Amino acid sequence: MNREPLIMVCTCEMAGRVRGKGFPAVDLPSRMRRGVGWVPTNTMISAFGPIYATPFGTGGDLILVPDAAAEVNVDFGDGGATEHFFLGDIRELDGTAWACCPRDFLRRGLAALKAETGLELVSAFEHEFVYTGVEDAPGAAYSLDAYRRQGVFGEALIAALRAAGTEPDSFMAEYGARQFEVVVDPALGVAAADRAVIVREMARAVAQRMGHRAIFSPILEPTGTGNGVHIHFSFRDAEGRPVMHDPAGPQGLSAVAAKFVGGVMHHLPALCAITAPSTVSYIRMRPNRWAPTHATLASQDRGASLRVCPVLPGGDVAKQFNVEYRCADAAASPYLALGALVWAGVDGIRQNRALPAGDGPPLPASLAAALDALEATREAAEWFGAAHLQAYLMHKTGELTSLAGLDEHEQCDRYAATY
Ligand code: GLU
Ligand code: MG
Repeated sequence: MNREPLIMVCTCEMAGRVRGKGFPAVDLPSRMRRGVGWVPTNTMISAFGPIYATPFGTGGDLILVPDAAAEVNVDFGDGGATEHFFLGDIRELDGTAWACCPRDFLRRGLAALKAETGLELVSAFEHEFVYTGVEDAPGAAYSLDAYRRQGVFGEALIAALRAAGTEPDSFMAEYGARQFEVVVDPALGVAAADRAVIVREMARAVAQRMGHRAIFSPILEPTGTGNGVHIHFSFRDAEGRPVMHDPAGPQGLSAVAAKFVGGVMHHLPALCAITAPSTVSYIRMRPNRWAPTHATLASQDRGASLRVCPVLPGGDVAKQFNVEYRCADAAASPYLALGALVWAGVDGIRQNRALPAGDGPPLPASLAAALDALEATREAAEWFGAAHLQAYLMHKTGELTSLAGLDEHEQCDRYAATY
């Protein structure tokens, strides 16, 4: 069959799904400039497909413009179509950033951090997911047996991640039934969130080629094990020096890191509405799941919302020292999740927010409660801009309403089918 190569340009908006449009590869030079057509209401497409509500109606025209720094071009060597896409920015027709562009939300947060401190953010996302190509075997957690059962999925995933430029770090059989984890190296600024999008899509692409799925939904059944997304972060100064660590600081945090973390702690309930944005995210964050239940900061404790990570023997302490945000999952767009984290941290720096003493309050117990916290957060209107915040709240309220009357099993099934 005759074939002509296609390229897609994609975004990852409020629903955390990767959407976009394709074009013939020969048109790439002009598409790099003018992008593809996009419309405001696309950001209101729910995780499940329907548009439940939209402030934009059928009006408006936007462009989705590829970013040359975020190209994925992976040939799986199986004769199938090459996975060739760009991640990009949503812009007005005059080329300025659209008010609800998720990448711009993150980019503006990073610019605010730089303006306040001169610092850049380095971050890495760890992803847990369920691979359906293996059966649930007893005692499989971390086992060599479970590792072996996935056959060549892991090797194909690592090859795809490397070809996509994401510098894979590790792959393992996780604790849950059929659960695996993949980690890629940290990256600066927006590139780290791009990597998170790419990791999810490469896992889905490899699994699909094997006739299976990689499911990133926060939890697949109410009594199961959650799929977390853990975001590790630290700072670099203008000379590239790490500035996260001070052995004399609280929990080993430098003064600027302590204020940043203080802001994240202060805003945790509201942040959950963005980083854990599904109803089942709050089934994942229940006791005894190695997922957070309270707004806590702790050294080397995987039950905390924010974990100060250990430095491995022989490592460069200042360089390795990082904090892990554990209240995220893959229902969230990585741009919105990382952006929200950065904006909350910037607020901590601006307001000189101290680290809380002792254990914090419980996290919101439901998406509805988290959305209430976000709505009550005065600063959030500045982070998002009023129109973006209102659209986000409307999007998530529509999602909540669509699940009304479904029990937890049914909700898990809905999300497992989409993520
Ligand atoms: N699966 C847990 C979560 O939902 C995390 C387990 C771990 O510490 O790796 O966050
Ligand atoms: Mg894990």
